[in-house]
Amino acid sequence: MKIACVGGGPASLYFSILMKRVDPSHDITVHERNRAGSTYGWGVTYWDGLLNYLHGADPESARTIEENSAHWNSWEMHVHDGATVATVAGEDWGEGFGIGRHQLLDILTERARSLGVHIEFEHEITNQDELADADLVVAGDGVNSLLRERHTDRFGSEITVGRNVYAWLGTTKVFHSFTFTFVETAHGWIWCYGYGFSKDHSTCVIECSPTTWKGLGLDQANKADSLALLEKLFADTLGGHPLIAQANTEDGTYWLNFRTLTNRTWYHDNLVLLGDAAHTTHYSIGAGTALALEDAAFLANALHGETQLQTALARYDRERQAAIRPSLRAARYSARWYEDLPRYVGLPPEQLFELLGQRRSPLLPHVPPRLYYRLGQAADQFYYRLDQVTEQFRSLRNRGRRPDPGPHEPNTPGHPDEMIPR
Ligand SMILES: Cc1cc2nc3c(=O)[nH]c(=O)nc-3n(C[C@H](O)[C@H](O)[C@H](O)COP(=O)(O)OP(=O)(O)OC[C@H]3O[C@@H](n4cnc5c(N)ncnc54)[C@H](O)[C@@H]3O)c2cc1C
Repeated sequence: MKIACVGGGPASLYFSILMKRVDPSHDITVHERNRAGSTYGWGVTYWDGLLNYLHGADPESARTIEENSAHWNSWEMHVHDGATVATVAGEDWGEGFGIGRHQLLDILTERARSLGVHIEFEHEITNQDELADADLVVAGDGVNSLLRERHTDRFGSEITVGRNVYAWLGTTKVFHSFTFTFVETAHGWIWCYGYGFSKDHSTCVIECSPTTWKGLGLDQANKADSLALLEKLFADTLGGHPLIAQANTEDGTYWLNFRTLTNRTWYHDNLVLLGDAAHTTHYSIGAGTALALEDAAFLANALHGETQLQTALARYDRERQAAIRPSLRAARYSARWYEDLPRYVGLPPEQLFELLGQRRSPLLPHVPPRLYYRLGQAADQFYYRLDQVTEQFRSLRNRGRRPDPGPHEPNTPGHPDEMIPR
């Protein structure tokens, strides 16, 4: 099959790798408008579930990705004049990894090339007609996909613009824990979260409401002044290290509103959407890259599992959209939690931290935060007790005896699934 992939991001590159692995006779070209080694953004996070998935799909690239990733197994939050809450990874807060976007793209590019994929850098596709000889055209050209925009009606594209503004920055401070910091200013709250992605750099995403942004003058300040102000606001967290904006951003342009994109369908004739071109997930759940890689695997599987192109694309569309729905929902609730920050930020730090971890819950926006917290605690205790009782039954059964249920077992009412510890 002759395949043209537009965009040399994680989605297209991984798709080209998986297609070539299964059938080296595919003729695949990836067209990327930027030059090699140039990309936007800093490090991206991912979770161990993804690593297992990648090891199953292409062990070679998975190994290199793992070797080049930073790893953390603890979380901390700073708020209210230096109060700190911290936890090690466990059942509630998982372990995580960070890898530089640059690094990830270099690894995938090299792997794709080694399998015989043609990669054309500095080749912007401005019209799908340029790719008329391809059997399949893959739009992996990101959230602003030009190929998708030509068929907005057919795809049923919808974009919702987030209220808060954010900046995706880097820093030379190396965070060993995934670190959240909430700072109160005269104009409202501003917060950042940071995680390491290499031996000498971390990502630092900063977010606030538009009122705070304007109140602090960040909408007017030039790049140097606004970075200096942010460094001052987050001085304790950064420990004297600078914040760094992407080199190619002009004054103010590194502040954005997140755009959540959905598409009713992900294919049209021989054009198929992949990764951010098909859907975006708010950065606060750290999943967009992982989902883009998984999209690639789904599409490659569908293409190799079906003989007809249209049947394969329909299967990818149907199955992948269903699989991704919980992540899209979680991302919407997580974005909303930050937009509703004033609702939570007055809680005692331990409670705030707990609800920060619960921010994907669809129930949380509808239940008073303190009550939600208490219900969560009660549910934790219920499950803890249930585990103990189950264990007791199991060991007694193994000894061939019936247990004495005892008069004091708690009579705990049922509770919604959302209360189950994360
Ligand atoms: C602040 C922030 C933080 C994030 N953090 C995380 C995180 O921690 N973990 C995570 O998993 N995800 C994260 N993401 C999401 C992640 O960056 C994206 O979901 C991911 O990059 C999507 O990959 P993609 O290949 O679909 O698109 P992209 O990575 O956007 O790649 C698209 C490529 O297409 C190229 N292109 C576009 N148009 C054309 C054209 N016409 N011709 C040729 N080339 C073209 C572009 O130059 C680009 O290289 C974050 C996003 C943001 C905004």
